[in-house]
Amino acid sequence: MEVCPRCQAPLERLSLGDVETVACNRCGYANVPVDHESEPEDAESWRDAINRFYEN
Ligand SMILES: [Zn+2]
Repeated sequence: MEVCPRCQAPLERLSLGDVETVACNRCGYANVPVDHESEPEDAESWRDAINRFYEN
């Protein structure tokens, strides 16, 4: 099992649409595969999607 690089908690596996990633429930870390890491808007939309996932 993968663990969070920030807090070493076990990472949850998430499916967002057709993309799979891992995220930490404890500290909110998310290992998000992004094609354009230099685009902050892209990362922000991923965070929003993950936040919606946890709020549901
Ligand atoms: Zn964590």
